[in-house]
Amino acid sequence: MPIQLLFCALLSLAAASGHGLAADATVDIDMTLRLDPAARTIEGEAQLRLPDGRSRRLQLAAAAQLRALSIDDQPARRRQRVRGALRSWSLPARAQVVDVRWGQTLEPTPTHLDHRATIGRADATAAALGSFLPAAAHWYPSVQVDGEPTMQRWRVTVITPPGQRAIVPGRLVEEADDDAGRTITYRMDVPAEGIDLIAGPYRVAERRIDSIDGRALSLRTLFHPEIEASADDYLDSLAGYFERYEKWIGPYPFDDFTIVSSPTPTGLGLPSLTYLGINVLKLPFIRDTSLGHEVLHNWWGNGVYPDYEGGNWSEGLTTFMADYHYAESNSTDKARLMRLGWLRDLSAIPPGKGLALARFTSRKHGVAAAVGYGKSAMLFYMLRERIGQANFDKGIRRFWRTNRFKVAGWPALREAFEATSGQSLEAFFAQWVEREGLPRLRLVRNETGGAELQQDESGYQLTVPLEWHEDSARQILIETLSGPSHVVAPPPGGGRLLLDPDFRLLRRLAADEIPPTLRDVNLAGSAQLTVLGDGILAGAAEELAHRLLDAPASPVDSGQPADDLPLLVVGPPDAVDGWLAHHGAAPRPQEVGKSGDVQAWAGRHGNGQPLLVVSAASANAAQAAARALPHLGRYGWVVFEDGRSSDRGHWPSTPQSITLPGSIPAAD
Ligand SMILES: [Zn+2]
Repeated sequence: MPIQLLFCALLSLAAASGHGLAADATVDIDMTLRLDPAARTIEGEAQLRLPDGRSRRLQLAAAAQLRALSIDDQPARRRQRVRGALRSWSLPARAQVVDVRWGQTLEPTPTHLDHRATIGRADATAAALGSFLPAAAHWYPSVQVDGEPTMQRWRVTVITPPGQRAIVPGRLVEEADDDAGRTITYRMDVPAEGIDLIAGPYRVAERRIDSIDGRALSLRTLFHPEIEASADDYLDSLAGYFERYEKWIGPYPFDDFTIVSSPTPTGLGLPSLTYLGINVLKLPFIRDTSLGHEVLHNWWGNGVYPDYEGGNWSEGLTTFMADYHYAESNSTDKARLMRLGWLRDLSAIPPGKGLALARFTSRKHGVAAAVGYGKSAMLFYMLRERIGQANFDKGIRRFWRTNRFKVAGWPALREAFEATSGQSLEAFFAQWVEREGLPRLRLVRNETGGAELQQDESGYQLTVPLEWHEDSARQILIETLSGPSHVVAPPPGGGRLLLDPDFRLLRRLAADEIPPTLRDVNLAGSAQLTVLGDGILAGAAEELAHRLLDAPASPVDSGQPADDLPLLVVGPPDAVDGWLAHHGAAPRPQEVGKSGDVQAWAGRHGNGQPLLVVSAASANAAQAAARALPHLGRYGWVVFEDGRSSDRGHWPSTPQSITLPGSIPAAD
């Protein structure tokens, strides 16, 4: 399963436009829409109550047809300005109410795109199997004040043909069915970023629960018929998440929450609802991972709005309090692996190509994801380690109370945690939020034979966890490092000193600290492909290379592969073992042995380049494994039986360490 599906995206006008929000200005929108998904048309009538502001512009998609415009009840003719996909009209200084009638033909819903392409789109699309009109497509009229989008409150009525059902963020206040179709009304009474309209052939399931402050909450699923049977399980999980997060943070800020299925492979968190692909919702683990992440975005992102100009903190805090929290509740080993995963991805960013957290807005590419989710979540982990769980939790509640439905940046988070911990966190936030890149640490033996921590020229102030192993006893040593080096004084007596073996510090990992994984072969440049045996696996090997690699592999049929390029080796078991012995590579690992019909494992060859070995008993087995292998890229090894992974695991990392001799007892 591609890891990308576990990332969600918040749909944000501000993030999409690259602007801040005119957060003090809110427009009230009352509109009625007729959406015909099969015909791909929408017709609308909207009344906008305008906020004050020096320069205000009404805006609408250039693709829409304006049918009528009146300002303060007078028909108005204003000159329009068209820029890109957007048209706009300046509004008179004293105008208070604008009435707009418009219509638009929508693009067909794309069902062929992958997750990444789907998330990145901002087109208004329609089809009988599902329609999605994101606010960023400007499919309804909105207002800009002084060049920035405003917040919005709304009452939206949508009329859809029989069999269709529409939803927008907010509280369901009315619905009625007749032969002509369904009329449904939603209200959003707090300022939100924009109206995303979704419609489809939905079946509804509902459950009522009580919120922590005594309100009745409605939890719903709007599912396509093919996944309707899983609605109850999803509602059970939802109820659990609401209980957990209301206790942890404070009352849920809306009255409804709905999981809406999509025919496209999407994953979006909107206020009071989440929009997830049907194929995502079919995956058994989504209820235990992504769903909680999406629910939590109602507090972080859609309850407190990130200040995109100062950096979006909401993905990191949501990842820490959802994905990481679940891993930690599961086992310390899972939590450690997640931290290693974050540091691994951050360490893969070439120096100078990184991004400061203060510049992260949304996940546009791998670097942004590694920083905006991983580095940010790791910051919250280190913060909790530093101020303790109790102060962290109090800070979270304080931040929520103070900033509900406001735009808040990193400084507001710092203030909340400073208030509850009584510590100055200025240096901590400054170095992890404002600075790009990561410190690089070394643990070395100095001239006098003692242990010394060194950092590159970056000059971070670091709290460094070390582990001291003496016989079978283990002890954690916490050292602070603010200059280029620091002498560590472990307890007397010989032993081994390890640098941060559990990955509790944000830092660039050394090569040996990063255990090989199956997907590494795709990360380090164009790979070489060696196919062993008499050619029966050639087809399967090509398919595997095609599915696994972004760039075509160069064949190395005989002779020596280049030392400085990744290498994929595919062959029957005996030929693989012979090749490994002949090339002086590490033999087949005990973990995979010869169980199953295909064994795949990651290692290194040449000058430390990624090596992926696939040992297959038959061409059919190799074909079946080729389909599954790309989804298991984060593992170090996998055993397949009939195309399914029957066993898999991670390779251990080798921490930086030095061995110190015991002091020689003085003779007396
Ligand atoms: Zn998210």
